[in-house]
Amino acid sequence: MNNNTSYTDFQAALEAALRGAPPARGWLVPLLSCNEQDAVELFREADRVRRENVGDDIHLRALLEFSNFCRKDCRYCGLRRDNKKVKRYRLSAEDIIKTALEAEKLGYRTMVMQSGEDAAFTRDVMANIIKGIKEKTDLAVTLSLGERDIETYRAWREAGADRYLLRIETTNPELFKSVHPDDDLDKRMKALMDLKELGYQLGTGVLLGLPGQTLENLADDIAWMHGIGAEMLGNGPLIPHPDTPLGREKGGEMNLTLRFVSVLRLVFPHAHIPATTAMGTLHPQGRESALRCGANVIMPNIGPMGFRKLYEIYPGKIYRRDDAKKDREAIVEMVESLGRTVGKDHGHVWRPVQEKK
Ligand code: SAH
Ligand code: SF4
Repeated sequence: MNNNTSYTDFQAALEAALRGAPPARGWLVPLLSCNEQDAVELFREADRVRRENVGDDIHLRALLEFSNFCRKDCRYCGLRRDNKKVKRYRLSAEDIIKTALEAEKLGYRTMVMQSGEDAAFTRDVMANIIKGIKEKTDLAVTLSLGERDIETYRAWREAGADRYLLRIETTNPELFKSVHPDDDLDKRMKALMDLKELGYQLGTGVLLGLPGQTLENLADDIAWMHGIGAEMLGNGPLIPHPDTPLGREKGGEMNLTLRFVSVLRLVFPHAHIPATTAMGTLHPQGRESALRCGANVIMPNIGPMGFRKLYEIYPGKIYRRDDAKKDREAIVEMVESLGRTVGKDHGHVWRPVQEKK
């Protein structure tokens, strides 16, 4: 990889980013590969662009991981179907709705419902849960339930879901195939386009550190995500899980992850960019660092304590032993220690006025 990008390359690349040039390898790669000294400037610019476009608010999204059953076999993920060591669980519809009520009481304005691709949560079962939450609370609802057909996405949108998170993971066909034995890149891309067409606030992102992934691949990913009009960008370093085929890989790296977050902020000035749990797991200050170089969202876990350990997508996941109230207080304290504020509104995505929501 090109590690000796000259200063002029970096400056020229930064200028291209700041004047809103269309995302292209030519300037994305020098930014993604810049040295530590240049990275200080990159981070500072990303932080400024974040402040000028989305302000100092950090939006807290309550994350409920309600089922760890999964029909897929993604080679990086601890919840993959073939991992027989996982003790599987799923919450009942009543418990999910009850948790939503608690989240709202704690002050959250958004609930993110995430799970493996669990066939038990059919189109109708899920639609009823979404309706239940929408009737009983004023929460914005984000779904992160993997790939489904367009009719299912439509039913959930009509039931009231506002947002959907589905990472593309990588846009390189060979790389995608190498980690998804039972999935297809075109299918994943189509799912994201369906979600967009249905009016969901669209979240996607990549896994950083897949074996064989290059900076050019990452640059292409950014350009593709820009092209489909992504509005939320959740990315994470790969953390190898010992009970998966990628268990012995090196995984993602913190500095590249932070440069990636910063570059995203320059390319998507108004997007919601979370400091993800995987960043906090890779490095004790990982989330704080991300919030200082472009990120503006954090997703505290609100699931029942006993289940959190079982939702082991990757090992060593940070979770607190206290209750959801104390978890939130600790996050609020962290936000304030960064000189930032907790978002009080729903924190919907920004859209130009001429577009309808
Ligand atoms: N089943 C849904 C949602 C749960 S997985 C889906 O796949 O979309 C959520 C995310 O976890 C995935 O998009 C993937 O990028 C991430 N993930 C899986 N295994 C990981 C690992 N070992 N390290 C870091 N992130 C991982
Ligand atoms: Fe299932 Fe999602 Fe894990 Fe793939 S990444 S195995 S779809 S939970």
